[in-house]
Amino acid sequence: MRSNEDKLDFKSKEEIKASQEIALQKQILYLYANSPFYKNLFDTHKIDPSSIKNISDLSQIPATSKNDLDKNNNNFQCVPSNKIAEYVTTSGTLGDPIIIALTKNDLDRLAYNEKRSLQIAGVTGNDIVQLTTTLDKMFMAGMAYYTGTISLGASVIRSGISNPSPQWKIISRFNPTVTITVPSFLYKLAKFGSSNGINPNESSLKKAICIGEPIRNKDFTPNKLQQKIIGQWNIELYSTYASTEMMTAFTECSEQKGGHQLPELIIVEILDDNGKPVEDGQLGEVTVTPLGVEGTPVLRYRTGDLARAYSDKCGCGRNTIRLGPVEGRKNQMMKFKGTTLFPQSIEEVLQSFDEIGNYVIEISKNTIDTDSIRIYVADNISDKLVKNIKLELADTIRVTPELKRVTKTILASMLHPEGARKPMRIRDNRAY
Ligand SMILES: [Zn+2]
Repeated sequence: MRSNEDKLDFKSKEEIKASQEIALQKQILYLYANSPFYKNLFDTHKIDPSSIKNISDLSQIPATSKNDLDKNNNNFQCVPSNKIAEYVTTSGTLGDPIIIALTKNDLDRLAYNEKRSLQIAGVTGNDIVQLTTTLDKMFMAGMAYYTGTISLGASVIRSGISNPSPQWKIISRFNPTVTITVPSFLYKLAKFGSSNGINPNESSLKKAICIGEPIRNKDFTPNKLQQKIIGQWNIELYSTYASTEMMTAFTECSEQKGGHQLPELIIVEILDDNGKPVEDGQLGEVTVTPLGVEGTPVLRYRTGDLARAYSDKCGCGRNTIRLGPVEGRKNQMMKFKGTTLFPQSIEEVLQSFDEIGNYVIEISKNTIDTDSIRIYVADNISDKLVKNIKLELADTIRVTPELKRVTKTILASMLHPEGARKPMRIRDNRAY
């Protein structure tokens, strides 16, 4: 696997598929032999593991949900505890976070995955990479970016989460060429620079690997957030998508038409509400089967993220599947006066108003057909701004939710509930 590196990406679709199916068969047999959860699943549904040979055979196996992983967390672990190198947890937006145990090989796989992912985004061994995520709090991604950068032969600066001022000091001292960051923070950094005599365009940073928030619309054009960033800073933005459970990233190449699948590490299916694969380019739930995972592997894992996959050859020459931006979370889908809506669309409107600062979107069940939406903002926001936000929301998403002003302290405590690793901008009170 390691010796192939990215050669597989450029082979024919048939060769990529054949190579994936060999890895899939191995993974299925490994799961049956070592995973109490999957052994039980196969036995209950009378599935012979050796009959799963092709990617299309996967549809015989019931998909695994986050709920399955949550309820049977220990039964997913495939190795004895003394073989675990590291325990990490999922973001845990609801209830207790899920534990994912990684072996030494899983950590190596993770580093390899991120190295490949950075290479696809054009990062090389000559780059200096500024890492603005956390590396502690049992967070997997930060460690993946760190080990992936080292494995690529590039230099890393663990600047971590901090305010723009210390980040700019680090930039001027170490001259990083690439930053791995949440895109909304990149905008803050640009704004702070511009108002403090720093021209971001003259800085060493020329490329950003953007995590956690989409930077494109579904047709790959820059979304409002990206437009705001590039309006201030002529920096190349690359989107990357991953989750703790999948242990694999989908990262954009220079064509910026979706994140490339790493075929030796993951199989991806896009499923409809009935668990059937959708047509190429159609919206569905991203469902993943990571390959070569030892500690806590999952099979046909439904991520809850809704996106589109494209399998036509990319302009970069790769023949791997590309994943478009996440258009919403399946469980956050709202019904509002007969139309379907995701909180993400509301966020995009809010983020286009610089003066808003922080906000929290609260979704509640109202009547059978309608969800109610309330947006909390800080109390220093003027009546005029509230009116303009409502007009913009009505104009772009045809919804006018209630806007409630609260003190900055209350807003901060809503945004950062105890134990949260990232700001909780969406509170969904409906099903929980
Ligand atoms: Zn490409």
